[in-house]
Formats: sequence, C-alpha cells, structure tokens
Amino acid sequence: MIGFMPEIYPDELVYSWFCRCFVHSGYPTSKAFLGELLFNRHCNPSKEFVGHLNPEMEQEIRQIYPMEELVLEHTMFPQYARFIGPENKKNALHRLTNDFCDAHHLFSILPRDEGDQYLKYCPLCIVEDREIYGEAYWHRTHQIRNMPVCTKHKCRLENSGVPAKSSQSFILEPAEMALEERQARNDVIPLEWEFASYMEEIFQEPVDFEGSVPASAILYAGMEGTKYLKSTGKVRNTQLLADGMQGYFKEIHIKDIASIYQIQRTLSGQRTDFSIVTQIAFFLGIPAHGLLHPRLSKEQIQKSQDARCPKGDIPEDWNQYDEEMLPIFQQTAKGIYQGKLNGMGRPGRVTERLLCRAVGISPHRLGNMPKCRGALEKYEESYEENWARRLAWAYGKLKVEKEGKVYWSDLRRVSGVKRERAGKALPYLKGHAGRGMGEEITALVLEGKQPG
Ligand SMILES: [Zn+2]
Repeated sequence: MIGFMPEIYPDELVYSWFCRCFVHSGYPTSKAFLGELLFNRHCNPSKEFVGHLNPEMEQEIRQIYPMEELVLEHTMFPQYARFIGPENKKNALHRLTNDFCDAHHLFSILPRDEGDQYLKYCPLCIVEDREIYGEAYWHRTHQIRNMPVCTKHKCRLENSGVPAKSSQSFILEPAEMALEERQARNDVIPLEWEFASYMEEIFQEPVDFEGSVPASAILYAGMEGTKYLKSTGKVRNTQLLADGMQGYFKEIHIKDIASIYQIQRTLSGQRTDFSIVTQIAFFLGIPAHGLLHPRLSKEQIQKSQDARCPKGDIPEDWNQYDEEMLPIFQQTAKGIYQGKLNGMGRPGRVTERLLCRAVGISPHRLGNMPKCRGALEKYEESYEENWARRLAWAYGKLKVEKEGKVYWSDLRRVSGVKRERAGKALPYLKGHAGRGMGEEITALVLEGKQPG
C-alpha cells in the first residue's frame, strides 16, 4: 500500500507523478517503491506511458483518476497515436488502459536522436512550478521529440541527466531533486518558436478517435500548387522536398530532420510518425488546424491515392520515375545494409525482395529502372559475407557492453548467426573486422568444435 497520492499537475507525465508519490511515500528507495507499484519491476516500466501496474495499485489509482484520462492527458500517447488510423487508435487506448500493453507493440517508436536522449526541462518553468506547487515536475510537452523550446517562456529547453529511455535500470528520479536552477537561454529565433508552438498545438489537441482522413492525403493536398508536385499533379518531387526541408530545419536548429526515406514512406501512407508528419506539414505551410481537422473532399482523398505513389498505377515515363526513386532506393538500401531500418543496428542483407518491400514497389518494376537496380546491386552480398559483418558488428557491440569478456552464447544471440554458419563466414571476416578482432571471433567460433 502506497498511501498518500498527491494530485497530478497540469501536463505532468505519469512517470513524474509516480516520482512525487515515491518522495511523499516514505519508501526508502525507488526500487522498494516500484516493487509496490508495478506488477513486476522488470516488466515494462515506462517513462512515456503508465507501465504495468500491479492490480492493487491499479484499483487505487482508478479511484482517483480514470485510466483513460491519465493516458490521454499525462502520457506521450498523443505523440505516438496522433496520426494512426481510428481503429488502431481505439485499440491502442484500450490495450494501454486495460492490460498495460507495452507501447512498442502498439506504435512505431523511432530510435532516439542524440538531442532526445534525456528528459528535457525549462529553467523558468522550474522556478514557476516551485513557486506555485512547491516543487518542480517533469512536463509532458517538453518531452515531445525534437521539441527545442518552452513555448510559454520562449527559452531553450535543457537536457537533464535523467535518461528519457525506459531502460533496464529504471528508477524514479523526481524533477525536484534532479534539477537545479540555471540561467535560461533566450536565443530562440521566431521560426523555431513557431515550429515548437505548432508541434505543441497538435500534441495538446484532444485525440480524435473518429476522423479517418489519412495524414498522407492532407500532406498531398498541401503540396498542390507547389513545386513539390510536378505540373501534371501526378508526380511528387520528393528529392526537392527533402532537400528543402533539410536546409529549412537546419536553420532553425532542429536536430532530427526527416530523411527522404521517411518522407517518401509518410507521403505514400506507410508511416505516420508525429515528428515526420509535423515537419512536412509545417514546411508546406499547412496550418495546425488543417492538419487536425482536415476538410478534404472525397475526390481530394482519392486523388492523393491515385497519385503516382510507388504502389499506384504504371508510370508514364519510366526514366523519370527511375530518376525520382533513385535517392529513395539508395538511402533505403544503405539503411538495410547498415542495420538502421531494423531498429537494432544489426547489419541486414540487401535483397531485391526486401528492398522493394521497404520502398513499397513491386519487384517486377525494377526491370524498367536501371538506376534503382544499380543501387540494389551496389549493396548485394552473399550470405557468408553478411554473417561475417553481423559477427563483427555484434562482437564490437558486446566488447563495449560487457567491458571485455565476450562469450560465444552472447555473440550467437546478438549476431543471430548459428555456429555452423559462423564457421562458413570466417574467411570473410577480414574485410569487416580488424586483425585482432578477427582472431578473437575465430577463436570463439572454433572453440565449440574442439573435441572435449
Ligand atoms: Zn517554461
């Protein structure tokens, strides 16, 4: 029994509330408190969501606040769910409030950019919160990915020392203790503040569970009449759009700028990440209200789907299409090769089937697209070569994590390469691991083959 639970503050993260409950509870350590709070301390604790509560705590909390209210108004739900389809939204809310499902099963949660590794805070909000509430707390809006500014005080958000990830070493770190007062940085330029306010407005708006206009259709409509949609109205110039966005957002100090691959996937309706959709929409000058409450005719929605998106009808001009898709093929192939698209970093093997699926076009079209085919061929490799790269990558990673001693069982697990296959990959290690590392990997792979 945790006992006294303070009131949750406006725009406070549930995590922050739990931190304060802990402080007021008299429990000696965060670990002991989490033992009471969570179903299992290792099971899905979360800084962005509620986490898996134990049944008694769940009951106690439900008596104070409806679980829906907590999820909608005090977690990062609006960020991850904002642009997914209505059925997925309803399902996500149901699962989060009833079986405390791990949010990773419900949304695509992008890896964090360097600017979003720690919980962020505003130095002036701390002062204000201490005056009004007697303590500082973690604000939800400050934690939006790519959010650079406190819109209220027009100053820069600062990184705390508290990791934003819900990592294995999950502990409660109350803002009141973690944060010290410091000088606010006011060098925010107007456009940066505008973009921050735009993201905030979209984030804070009550989540619409009925609207079914896909974000891709709204963005498509926003491109009409711009140079990013070729005059026929059927071909998007994604490269031009991506280049334009790079320059624009760099100037306003946005760190994690949408890549051409992400833009392509978003425009073709395959992805709906908050950060990518808001960047494209802001760049195109679509007002927040227009993104949240689109007024598109059926024809407009249909038009966006008919537009020459990768799965659409047959292009009139294959050369132009080949040209247009080339940067997307190049970046996607590279992403697969370097393991950037699987979320783990494990080097992938680029095949025609995998690449076409990632880009969203059918493989038989590639016959008409020599340039894109070239991008594929550049990254093609044999199974053995790929196993070798995976072994080298996994070994390097383990060496850092385990601070020295690496066992075969770890190498097997992280690389995903079985011993028999690893044996076949050994001749290929040379190109991918330095000599010392190559020898160490070889020794590990061969040790199980020694008699006794
Ligand atoms: Zn502030």
